[in-house]
Amino acid sequence: MTKEELWQTVLNEMELKISPANFATWFKDTSISSLKNQQIEIAVPSDFAKEWFTNKYHALIFKILKNKIQSLKKIEYITVGPFQTISTAQKQIQNISQGKGQLQFQEFKIDRKTNLNPKYTFDNFIVGSFNELAHAAAYSIVQNPGQVYNPLFIYGGVGVGKTHLLQAIGNKLNQIKNSFEIKYLQAEKFSQELVQAIRSKSMDKFKEKFRNLDILIMDDIQFIGGKEKTQEEVFHTFNSLYEKNKQIVFSSDRPPSAIPLIEERLRSRFEGGMIADINYPDFETRLAILKTKSAEKGLEISEEILTIIATNIQKNIRELEGALNKVAGTYHLNGNSLGKEEVKKTLRDFACSMKKTTTPKKIIEIVANFYDIKISDLSDKTRKKEYVRPRQIAMYLLRKELNLSFPSIGEKFGKRDHTTAIHACKKIKKEVEENEALNEEIHQVKQLIYS
Ligand code: ADP
Ligand code: MG
Repeated sequence: MTKEELWQTVLNEMELKISPANFATWFKDTSISSLKNQQIEIAVPSDFAKEWFTNKYHALIFKILKNKIQSLKKIEYITVGPFQTISTAQKQIQNISQGKGQLQFQEFKIDRKTNLNPKYTFDNFIVGSFNELAHAAAYSIVQNPGQVYNPLFIYGGVGVGKTHLLQAIGNKLNQIKNSFEIKYLQAEKFSQELVQAIRSKSMDKFKEKFRNLDILIMDDIQFIGGKEKTQEEVFHTFNSLYEKNKQIVFSSDRPPSAIPLIEERLRSRFEGGMIADINYPDFETRLAILKTKSAEKGLEISEEILTIIATNIQKNIRELEGALNKVAGTYHLNGNSLGKEEVKKTLRDFACSMKKTTTPKKIIEIVANFYDIKISDLSDKTRKKEYVRPRQIAMYLLRKELNLSFPSIGEKFGKRDHTTAIHACKKIKKEVEENEALNEEIHQVKQLIYS
C-alpha cells in the first residue's frame, strides 16, 4: 500500500466517524509524509491542528493504521507550512463542500409544529475548545433524552452558537425519534402565548400543549427575569415534564446565578442538571470556522485571506460569517480573485458598518436594566450596595466607552463630585483585571450596549 492509499483508508473511516464539518476542518491538507515499518509521520497544516490531532483523533487514527500495519509503534504529527497544499484529502472535502454548496440554495422552512429550522444541525456545527463542553452535553442528550442531564442549561454571549446548538438537538431528535413531540421556542414567545391563553381563557389548552411534550427547548430564558406569571408557568411546566423524565433544554446569555429577578425555586431547577458555557473562539478556531464555512459555501478563498479575516474579526461567529459573506461578495465581483488589500478594505468597511455608537443615556439604561434597578436609583444619594455597584459600573463604562470627563460623569449621577467618578472608574478598572466573573459580567453589559 502506498502512503496515499493508506491515508485514504484513514480518511474514509474518519469521515464516517466524525461530523462533516469537523472532517472538512481538520482533515483538509493532511497526508502521510513518511511511512516506515514502525513509525508513521502525518503532516498537518498548523500547530493547532497538530495539537488537535494529538488530543482528539490520535487514538482513532492509531487504531485504523495499526489494523493495516501490525508492526506500527508510533505516529508523529508534523506541522507543514499553512500555505502548502498537500492534496490527498482535497477531493473528498470538495465532494462534501459541493454537497453543502447545494444545500445553501435550498430553502429552509421552519417546521410549524416544532418551530425548528432544519438549517441548524450537528453536522454543520463546528466544535473547538470554546464550545466543546456544551457540544458534548448536547450530544449526550440526543443519545439519551431525559436520562442524563435534565435540564441542560447552555449559556454564553451573543452570536456564539447557542441557538444553533439548541436547534441541532431538536433537529437530531426529530430525525431519530419519530414519535417524539418536540418544541423549540424563545422564552419570549412562551410568555406571549401565555398572555394570550389567559386572555382568551384557554389555559387548559396551553398547559396541555407544553406538558405533553417529550422535549421542550426554550431559548434565551433570561427574558423571564422579572416576569412572575411566566416564571410560575415555566416552573410548573418544568416540573410536569421533569417528573415524566422528559428532556428540557434552556439557553441564556448568562448563568442562572446571574439572571436578575428570578424566583429561587426556578433558579435551583435551572442549576439542577448540567450547566455548560460557550466562550468566544480563539484565533485558530476562528480560522477553522472560516475554512469550514467557506468550504460549505463552495468558495475557494485562500488560507492567507481567511487568516486576514480571522485576525481582523475577533468577536463572535455571527460576525465572522458576516465578514466572510462580505469578502465572498467582493470576490465574485472581482471575477473570482482577490488581493490582500481588497480584503482589508472590505473588512474595514464591514467593521465600520458593524461599529455601533452608543450614548450616555443608552449606557445608563442598559446598566439599570441589567442590574434590575431603576434609572433614578443610579443617581440617588443612597449608599446601598445594590445601587452603589451598578452606579460605579455605569460610571466606568461612560469613561471607557465614551471617554466622558470625570466632572460630567459625576454630574450625570445626581450631581456627584468628580472625585467620586474617578474613584469609581479606578475601582472597577482594577477589579476587572483581577476578577474574571466581573470581567465577564461587564462584557455582557457591553454586548447589550452595542447590540
Ligand atoms: P446565539 O444564539 O448564541 O446568539 P447563534 O446560534 O444564532 O448564536 O449563532 C450565530 C451564527 O453563527 C449562526 O449563523 C450560526 O449558525 C453560526 N454558528 C454559531 N456557532 C457555530 C458553530 N460552532 N459552527 C458553525 N456555525 C456556528
Ligand atoms: Mg440565539
